[in-house]
Amino acid sequence: MIRKLTCIECPAGCALLVEVESGKVVGITGNNCPKGEKYAITEVESPVRVLTSTVLTEGLPLKTIPVRTDAPIPKASLFKAMEEIRKIRIKKPLHVGNVITKNLAGSGANLIATRECLADQGSATQTI
Ligand code: SF4
Repeated sequence: MIRKLTCIECPAGCALLVEVESGKVVGITGNNCPKGEKYAITEVESPVRVLTSTVLTEGLPLKTIPVRTDAPIPKASLFKAMEEIRKIRIKKPLHVGNVITKNLAGSGANLIATRECLADQGSATQTI
């Protein structure tokens, strides 16, 4: 099977043709540098994504706080990660980059805040 991918490692956006057999990459053309080859192999054999979402708050001025993982996580973990995120309730002021949940869904990545929420109303907790 041939998969068409666009390399996103740099603005050149090379069009890759990736030959896949039994879920493994066996050939790549169209890449202008080795990064494209690495990208194609990761995307086909073990795709990962940075997960962005929001979490609910309790007793804070903002009803939700935007969050993201601090590293890409396997696509296969996204559903489990979202289940964990839905259970979180933030009750303490946060700064950008504060860790909300360590090792989200066993992915090895942390869930961090991407917006500040400064009102001081209790302590940060999560309900899991
Ligand atoms: S293959 Fe290399 S040159 Fe092409 S988009 Fe990817 S990183 Fe850029």
